[in-house]
Amino acid sequence: MKRLFKGGTVVSGDGMRKLDLLVKGEKILASGEDLSFQDAEIVDVTGKLLFPGFIDAHTHMALEVSGTVTADGFDTGTKAELAGGTTCIIDFATQYKGETLAQALENWHRKADGESSCDYAFHLALSEWNDEISRELERVVREEISSFKLYMTYDNRVDDETMYEVLSRLKELGAIAGVHCENHGIISARLKEVLKNKGDRKDVSDYPWTRPKEAEAEAVGRLLKIARCVDTPVIVVHLSTAAGYREILRAREAGQTVYVETCPQYLLMDESRYSLPAEEARLYMIAPPLRKKKNQEILWQALREGRIQTISTDHCSFTKEQKDAGAQDFSRTPCGMPGAQERPALIWHFGVGEGRITPEQMCIYLSENPAKLYRLYPWKGALIPGSDADIVVWDPEAEWTMTADSMQSAAGYCPMEGTQIRGRAEQVYLRGELVAENGKVLVEKTGRYVRHGAGE
Ligand code: MN
Repeated sequence: MKRLFKGGTVVSGDGMRKLDLLVKGEKILASGEDLSFQDAEIVDVTGKLLFPGFIDAHTHMALEVSGTVTADGFDTGTKAELAGGTTCIIDFATQYKGETLAQALENWHRKADGESSCDYAFHLALSEWNDEISRELERVVREEISSFKLYMTYDNRVDDETMYEVLSRLKELGAIAGVHCENHGIISARLKEVLKNKGDRKDVSDYPWTRPKEAEAEAVGRLLKIARCVDTPVIVVHLSTAAGYREILRAREAGQTVYVETCPQYLLMDESRYSLPAEEARLYMIAPPLRKKKNQEILWQALREGRIQTISTDHCSFTKEQKDAGAQDFSRTPCGMPGAQERPALIWHFGVGEGRITPEQMCIYLSENPAKLYRLYPWKGALIPGSDADIVVWDPEAEWTMTADSMQSAAGYCPMEGTQIRGRAEQVYLRGELVAENGKVLVEKTGRYVRHGAGE
């Protein structure tokens, strides 16, 4: 089966070109000007942009957290991804305390295999560190995983000594770590302080105060100094503040390699949401929290200058009912928001549409860079001969309104509810097959597991 995509403009990180794409089976066979081919089905994409399928390198599907489990498992969560134009996710398989890495991966495969509608790879979030785990890492890195997650806050946070040891071991194996950077001590102390001063923790407007920008900046700075001692690159995930960004610039000036991820929510929403009525405010409780508005332009500026490498969702969805667990104490609210389906359209509309970034940069941040950083390139993240035929046919003119009703997520709400958007994924092809159209999923559960180990 051959398909010829005719008349479109192919977007890559280094330009936009009027190119036809010939797809055979799951792969791109050829690209060129005015291609013709006898027995190929013609797909007329005149006036459309063709992006390499977007990659979401930060998702939490079916994650057990705060005594509950995310509203989206791999079933609904990946349908949301696909509907928006994302054809591959990298989810955080999480090692629970006492588990081997093999057990953690087996557990995540049980959640994802046969359920996922887009392709999926895993990062492995490490919650325990000892000699056995260190030994086991070698096989895991060689066979399937090249990126690991470490937390500097929460129960599974690592201390500085462990951070140093893990980064050293990953360096040895040719793997990399993404790190959630927040200072745990500041957060714990401030949570206690709210309780002491107010008698309870019902007022969600106190939430951002418990996770100040200094907590992010301090942890980013400390991580980067540890990484400097180890002499290894590292990834700062979901950067949310200008203060944290300054720490990154400082480290780079000293010659360090630092990769940075941010998320649409930090570019588009601010902490005023926490002053809404509590039951609504809890819907926006994420960690790190939404910040003061002035951070947004600094993050956009960093994207414009190419100083942030990826935009992911941190999709971690809970329903309103689940969020209500924090009614008497906001610190019991499961933190996280949906955003899988919205990301490409939000970045197109507010980024490209409002002149903050170019279409090429959107391609870099949503496709090319995550593919390169996580060893999926050029099978993913590119539309060149030999790549997977993960193709997003992008209609730059389509006008629509973002509402919970138009979303596949099981969260039941849309953080950007009511936003008027211009531009959307009209058709989404996963390895050559049309799987989604105008926000509707046509083919479910054909996602395939993607290994991204460091190999031999
Ligand atoms: Mn996360």
